Amino acid sequence: MAQSTDSIKKDEYWKSKLSDIEYAVAREKGTERPFTGKYWDFFERGIYSCVCCGANLFESDSKFASSCGWPSFFDSKYKDNIEFHNDTSHGMIRTEVLCKKCGAHLGHIFDDGPKPTGKRFCINSVSIKFTPIK
Ligand code: FE
Repeated sequence: MAQSTDSIKKDEYWKSKLSDIEYAVAREKGTERPFTGKYWDFFERGIYSCVCCGANLFESDSKFASSCGWPSFFDSKYKDNIEFHNDTSHGMIRTEVLCKKCGAHLGHIFDDGPKPTGKRFCINSVSIKFTPIK
């Protein structure tokens, strides 16, 4: 099916606003290579927001060292800004994590996280932007 004019306009908007890798991951559901992103091994105190629209998504309080090569969180304080979709691509059944405000692809959520939630939000570094808390 042909893309609507609106969605083509939106694509152009995101292409002009984002870097190539940010666009490929956040708008086209790509995945950054593990152990290459800015935040997989980064544990400063602060807030992570959507690289596309700036919505707050995660806090450093719920970040943990997961050794999977991507920034991992066991929870989010900002669930109103997060949406989940079933994802059956690549022959797997997974739950995709998206920014509810702008539809950016953030990553996936798995059930192998630490207590208290047992969840692991496995998020691409390029989909999020860190702001330190003073
Ligand atoms: Fe967003």
